[in-house]
Amino acid sequence: MKKPVILTGLRSNNDLHIGNYLGALMPLINMQVQHAKDYDIHLFVPDLHSFTTPIDHSKLYEQTINNLRIYAAAGLDLDSPNTHIYRQSYVSAHSELTVILNCFSHMGELSRMTQYKEKAENKPNISVGLFDYPILMASDILLYDAQYVPVGADQSQHIELARDIAIRMNNKFGDLFTLPEPEAKQAEFMSQTERMRIRDLITPEKKMSKSDETGKGVIFLTDTPEAAAKKIMGATTDSFGEVHYDKKERPGISNLLDILAALTDTDIKEIVSRYAGQTQYGELKKDVAEAVSSFLTDFQFKLSQIDDAVIIKKLEASEIQMNKVANSKLLSVQKALGLRL
Ligand code: AMP
Repeated sequence: MKKPVILTGLRSNNDLHIGNYLGALMPLINMQVQHAKDYDIHLFVPDLHSFTTPIDHSKLYEQTINNLRIYAAAGLDLDSPNTHIYRQSYVSAHSELTVILNCFSHMGELSRMTQYKEKAENKPNISVGLFDYPILMASDILLYDAQYVPVGADQSQHIELARDIAIRMNNKFGDLFTLPEPEAKQAEFMSQTERMRIRDLITPEKKMSKSDETGKGVIFLTDTPEAAAKKIMGATTDSFGEVHYDKKERPGISNLLDILAALTDTDIKEIVSRYAGQTQYGELKKDVAEAVSSFLTDFQFKLSQIDDAVIIKKLEASEIQMNKVANSKLLSVQKALGLRL
């Protein structure tokens, strides 16, 4: 019997930081570990989505492969037969279904998409691709009858749109598409894998983000272990002088505790108890610095050992398989629309 499908995109992004690692990569890998037996897991690289706003195209191909190297180094199991890793542009049915779905989608509903409005605001020459992004995303989902689509909150409106389009097409043409689960069920599913928010080291009131200009508050996965340790030692703390977990009152210290707990897989309470009675943060900072630098040493070693041939082999095998699945769905749509007998 066909297994239910979980589908999610692996974003291309070369400036990944420890926040992305703990807040996005690890939950994804945990999801794979948790569900690989009972679900078909589709992890696709949305390369056609990557230039809805201008990018440096000379880097696109390499970035895709590099991103997959990072996922593999972080522990993504490339051998799992139920995990399919493929590039969107290598499965042409994504583009073909988009052209079809365009004719069953409304300008009004696309104009209301918050992400479009935000990205398009005050910009000249907005691309049609940016406007149409949610329809390509609907194709990504509907081609494989995906049930769960773990995405950030900014994308949940797009999943609702995919549902609306699928309902509209099913009403007109019969049961063509499986509906992705509604938002509440998606949220419930996603909450099974814990997501954490890592804060900026210098300004712990905001999240760690690659857009930080100085880079001092951000631990990039490419930082040398020494540089990263220095950044931790320079992290903003507070004047309480007592190790205590309180995200609101003591965001800096709580952030360091979060990082230490996640990297050493230890309970926060247990960590806090180690520093009971101390009146300074030096010891804690040293321990976090050590954990971060040993994490980076280990991660960067793993990354250097990744064999590109293994990645390419997995991509090619999945792409052959996914072309079969997607083309079969596309054919049923083409038949329903009168394009094929
Ligand atoms: P971005 O690089 O900001 O586009 O984010 C890519 C992914 O990483 C998203 O799934 C975010 O939720 C996650 N992410 C980004 N920044 C952080 C952070 N500081 N802590 C945890 N997760 C993050």
